[in-house]
Amino acid sequence: MQTVINVSNRLPVTVGETLTKSSGGLVGAMDGLKQIYDFKWVGWAGDVTGNSANKKQIAAELKARFNYYPVFLTKKEVTDYYTGFSNSSMWPLLHYMTTHARYEERWFEQYRRVNHIFADAVLDIAREGDNVWIHDYHLMLLPAILRKRRPSLKIGFFLHTPFPSYEVFRCHPNRTEVTEGMLGADLIGFHTFGYLRHFRSSVLRILGIESEMYRVPGTFHDTIIGVYPIGINTDKFSRELSSDAYRKSLNDLRKAHSGKKIVLSVERMDYTKGIPRRLDAIERYLQADGMRDDIVFIFINVPSRESVREYRDLRRQVEQKVSKINGRYSTTKNVPVHFIYRSIDFSELCALYAIADVALVTPLIDGMNLVAKEYLFCQQEDKHGVLILSEFAGAAQELSHASIVNPYNIGDMVQSLREAFNLPEEERRVRLELMKQRVTRHNARLWAKSFIRDLSSETLPHKAASAVAEDLESTVRKKIVPQKRVAIFLDYDGTLSELKPKPSDAVPDEELDGLLRKISEVATVETYLISGRKKEDMDRWFSKYHLNLIAEHGYYYRTSNSSEWITFNPNADLSWKNQIKDIFRLYAETIPGSFVEEKTSSVVWHYRRTDPELSTIKANQLVSELYEMLSNLPVEIHHGKKIVEVNSTKVNKGIVMEYFISQNNFDAVLCAGDDETDENMFRMTDDRIVSVKVGSGNTDASYQLPNPRALRSFIEKLLRWRRGENE
Ligand code: UDP
Repeated sequence: MQTVINVSNRLPVTVGETLTKSSGGLVGAMDGLKQIYDFKWVGWAGDVTGNSANKKQIAAELKARFNYYPVFLTKKEVTDYYTGFSNSSMWPLLHYMTTHARYEERWFEQYRRVNHIFADAVLDIAREGDNVWIHDYHLMLLPAILRKRRPSLKIGFFLHTPFPSYEVFRCHPNRTEVTEGMLGADLIGFHTFGYLRHFRSSVLRILGIESEMYRVPGTFHDTIIGVYPIGINTDKFSRELSSDAYRKSLNDLRKAHSGKKIVLSVERMDYTKGIPRRLDAIERYLQADGMRDDIVFIFINVPSRESVREYRDLRRQVEQKVSKINGRYSTTKNVPVHFIYRSIDFSELCALYAIADVALVTPLIDGMNLVAKEYLFCQQEDKHGVLILSEFAGAAQELSHASIVNPYNIGDMVQSLREAFNLPEEERRVRLELMKQRVTRHNARLWAKSFIRDLSSETLPHKAASAVAEDLESTVRKKIVPQKRVAIFLDYDGTLSELKPKPSDAVPDEELDGLLRKISEVATVETYLISGRKKEDMDRWFSKYHLNLIAEHGYYYRTSNSSEWITFNPNADLSWKNQIKDIFRLYAETIPGSFVEEKTSSVVWHYRRTDPELSTIKANQLVSELYEMLSNLPVEIHHGKKIVEVNSTKVNKGIVMEYFISQNNFDAVLCAGDDETDENMFRMTDDRIVSVKVGSGNTDASYQLPNPRALRSFIEKLLRWRRGENE
């Protein structure tokens, strides 16, 4: 039986005199998993005071009764990690509320610390290959922490909030670490396609990683991204709807509101829910439409995050508006707004959902909004209520038969209310049935099962980073180190040196200079720097070392004993270059920041310093145009890292490397590179060659290292081994 370790900020229990299990949406969703998997849950146990003996006892009881594994946090950790970073910084930003977002450096320190504490708790119980499912914005760093510490885990992350546009997300001071943290996962789930799209855009603009529709490539593992809209716990609602408590609540409500139209709103008291604007719409409706004796607006506002100032301010604002409306529009027979600032019984909630003629669900932004779905599910056979739903709720993507409104537009909300009361019965029935079917089928259980099915599926690419690095070391020690005649072929940009916005900035730094000197001194290794750069560039930077240099992907070379450049294949036809230059120039003119470089044997369009989204689209367009136009010419088209290059088929890095290997009869060869042009080396089928790709993406190389830094230290090791030194 496979294991699923579920990880969320809170465990679904209240620790008091006794332990009480709560029954939120996630609990119901996970019920279905318990039948198929060995299911464990890690989370914060809530405010638990007392000594460690007491905590040990609580932990033992939680484990024995529910298979729950508690994390205990100090007051300070809770203040900074939960109230501070999670709820005052991340939550507002993820919900586009930049003006509510606050940042304190110490919050992030504690956030990182607490994410590590969660990692400890997971690793205490995790075995190799277990599925770990991490939930929400409180634990965005946890995927990367776990991956680093236990690469064999299958790590899933689900974001229950929206993921905002890059223009908003970029405001966060810790955007890079947070994005990298999420990408530690094998699978990331969002509620809607829009959130997924925004995430891809942030990954591109913050980390420079180009992704596919459902996949973000990584060095040692790809992250699959998917859309999994959460559903409601239909089992729990079905049970309640046939209970006596529910029937009693329904009768009580019918009596209390007989003859009146009921408009219902249910939510946490949160500034994302659009409560003040909704009250403004209600006020305008009452002002214009009369009906003051026979309509009630019931607000169930569950207290939330009262330790955060913005939430206390909001409550005051809402209370003032409610009392103003009631003062103005109450009659001796009716009070229009019933404002309840507390959580209500589940049976009463279901009865309210069932009796309400209209549900007014108008958040300014909401990851999903379960209330909209719960309302639809609780509407019974004879009753066909109307759902007025904000276009900014994730649920609006699925519930297209609702009356969709813009919650910023008060007139729009008033108009929808009027229409709701005048919709013909048949239309209400059809719309409700369609949406109810969807809500019933796509429930919370199905959501959880789909996510875990995808996470645990063998088709997800799982590669363990450190394991790969270790494999490379042992292969090189076996295949290369003991051989007599050894060569290494190293690409430069992106391989030995990080890519720079301007190619001329990639001058070897002090560390690299030291390494190149060492390489030059080790006589038992013949080293070739094999680059796409011009020979003049290579002369300027590398002529001082005792190295073989290969320029323009093999068009020119000079050996370590000579300063003369030799043309590898003087007969290569280069007459196509002018045609390519014209096309590239056209693109350079339309994409600001891009430019054309001409080499002897190739033409390159560089677009590193351009708007990444626009230029990626344009580059793809250019490449497909080139493939069509140049199919009869002796050229290769490379779409590399922020470059499109056309060069002769008569020379490439693979052909040149092969030439030198056979000329010198090398016994073993290591080659390393980072982009498409290096794949020509990686594709050589020769047992003597060990190939290494530096960085992420698909490759024909046998091994991968994450970055130039890792390659440099690997070469240092290789040189030490060659000199007969051990670690
Ligand atoms: N809810 C509750 N007690 C109440 C009123 C509402 O437990 O008195 C529940 C409601 O049934 C729903 C959840 O609170 O499942 C609100 O979820 P939603 O997705 O609408 O908003 P969120 O609070 O997650 O932002």
